[in-house]
Amino acid sequence: MFPAIRIHQQCGVHDGTGIATSHRGRAPHFARHELIHHLQNERLGVFGAWLGRPAWWREGMACSLSLDERRPLPEPLESYRSGFDEWMAEAGREHLWTAVPGANPSSSTAIKH
Ligand SMILES: [Zn+2]
Repeated sequence: MFPAIRIHQQCGVHDGTGIATSHRGRAPHFARHELIHHLQNERLGVFGAWLGRPAWWREGMACSLSLDERRPLPEPLESYRSGFDEWMAEAGREHLWTAVPGANPSSSTAIKH
C-alpha cells in the first residue's frame, strides 16, 4: 500500500511536497533525514522513489547521509543504513541517483549510464 503521508521516527512527516516536524525534528539529523526524503522525491519522483527503490535504499540513504549519530538505530533502520553504506561503497557516490539497487543490499547493482 502506498501511504500518501509518511510519519517518520515520531518526529517528522513528508508527503512529497513538504515537511513538518515536531519538537524532536529540531535535532539537525532529523531535519536532514526528512530533507533527504524530499530530495529523493524531487530526483526520482514520488512514485519512482517508492516503487523504483527498495525501502532499505530509501531509509538507509536518509539514515546514513543525515549523519545520524545514534548507534545502533532501532531495527530495521540500522540494517538499512549498513546496507546502504555497503551499496554506496560498491556503486560509488557519483552513481547515487543512477545506480539501481537490488531488492536487498547484497544483490547486484545495475548502473544506468
Ligand atoms: Zn525516513
